Amino acid sequence: MVCGDVKGQLDQLFERVEGIISTKGNFACLFCVGKFFDESNSFLTPYKNALKKVPLPTYFISLAQDEELLGDVDVNGGQICPNLFYLGKQGIQEIQNLTVGYISAIYDSTKKNRTMDYNYEEIRGVIDRVKHSHFKGVDILLSNEWPKGLLNSLSDEACPKGISMLEYDDFGAEIVSQMTASLAPRYHFSSTPTKKIFYERQPYRNGPQFPGQRKFSISRFFSLGEAFNNKKQRFLYAFSLDPITTSDPEQLYQVPPHTTEFPLIKYLWVAPEEPATKKQKTEVDLSKSRFDGQFMGDERKPNYAQNRKRFTDNRETAKLTTGARAEQCWFCMASAVFEYHLIVSVAKHFYLAIAKGGINDSHLLISPIKHFPSQTTLPPEAYEELVKWMESLEKFFMSRGEVAVFFEHNYPVSNQHLHIQVVPVEAREKNRIRESFVIEGTRVKLDWVPVKLGVPLVKQIDGSYFWVRLPDGSQIIARLEKKIPFSFGRRAIASLLGHPELEDWKSCVQPKQEEEKMTMQLREGFKQYQFKS
Ligand SMILES: [Zn+2]
Repeated sequence: MVCGDVKGQLDQLFERVEGIISTKGNFACLFCVGKFFDESNSFLTPYKNALKKVPLPTYFISLAQDEELLGDVDVNGGQICPNLFYLGKQGIQEIQNLTVGYISAIYDSTKKNRTMDYNYEEIRGVIDRVKHSHFKGVDILLSNEWPKGLLNSLSDEACPKGISMLEYDDFGAEIVSQMTASLAPRYHFSSTPTKKIFYERQPYRNGPQFPGQRKFSISRFFSLGEAFNNKKQRFLYAFSLDPITTSDPEQLYQVPPHTTEFPLIKYLWVAPEEPATKKQKTEVDLSKSRFDGQFMGDERKPNYAQNRKRFTDNRETAKLTTGARAEQCWFCMASAVFEYHLIVSVAKHFYLAIAKGGINDSHLLISPIKHFPSQTTLPPEAYEELVKWMESLEKFFMSRGEVAVFFEHNYPVSNQHLHIQVVPVEAREKNRIRESFVIEGTRVKLDWVPVKLGVPLVKQIDGSYFWVRLPDGSQIIARLEKKIPFSFGRRAIASLLGHPELEDWKSCVQPKQEEEKMTMQLREGFKQYQFKS
């Protein structure tokens, strides 16, 4: 059982609980969230003196300003009297075979009362301890505040009644979001510091707790009213639960009706930082060389084979216009190091090639024949052709039960040549693609914005960016304030596919014979989808 703000009314609460037990049978324990104490702690005296008994093991969190009311009990948790325990500030404990996470305190944005604030360092510690692939989540999470972002992915009807989004923003705390996202609770119970309401959110599916996770547990969130409130807000919630440690894993992943997407994605894998004293943002790894990215060529001498003749025209044109620069470029068809055996198809401005070391055997690159560094530098006519390529490829992959993800990483290295990567994934994954880019993006602090369709990209962004076109035709883009790993796009897809090892293109490189075979198959398959240029 779980109870909202007790506010010292222990006698009435236990009376009510005993009534429930007498009709419904025993409960393993009682948890209390929100404000446990009244103005004083004198209501505890008869229990401490053994004049009254606590009928079942009872555990509570509290507001930090009530610390002094704990009396002799350690602020990090301890027993008040037989069967009554203060859980402490934050942590995870095994209680009655259940794994229980808890986070006391509430956030004071005014900074007037520091003692009631969260301990960011300790909470970071709790989150760090669960970051491993054996962690399945906690059975129960107890908090005094709602996670910020909790109402994301909900329709208006599913949001709490009578609370505006503005008010809601006031009582959501980011630190609780980070704790919740990381702990993936099956049941999350909270009070609300400002509005004392009962609210049950539609269940939501959790995000991946570790890279490449394929199955996602379900979370249910309940906000409980104040104990014995006169507004008829429910404050006591009784339920039965098999511990996560012994549950059938498949049962954990069953998706109930009305389950929404993960609302706290922004907070997953983000280390909590105190809002007022944000530390210098952590630098991303700059040590990675450009060869961690996706490149088509390698150091081997090109073998022009029989394809050479076929593409000579384009090659000559490219050479005329781009001159010496092209000689050193892997992507310029006029370059001496260009690998013709990777070419699937060619049009007026672009060619289509298989990616060397592709994520799968249909990972492709769309690249301009001439040397252009990015989408934003293309002349309008070339851009129009690029759109045709993408639409044709979408149709081609759709015929195979797949959807295409297109992405471009524009962080100019010297002599950068535009290549848009095209990765087909199974159609059933299509709703998780955006999420995967967002999750991986949070790790390198990317701020995604939707691209306005019909407005040239160059008018929407300048400088470096990462761009993605999703299967529904929508596009998202993030400005790159600093370098991110060149394998970022691959990482997002590799993580989506549950194969993080696919991030490294070098480990995916196939022998040339295989590359030729893949190219031939794609030429054959794509032929009928090739538009006329
Ligand atoms: Zn080039």
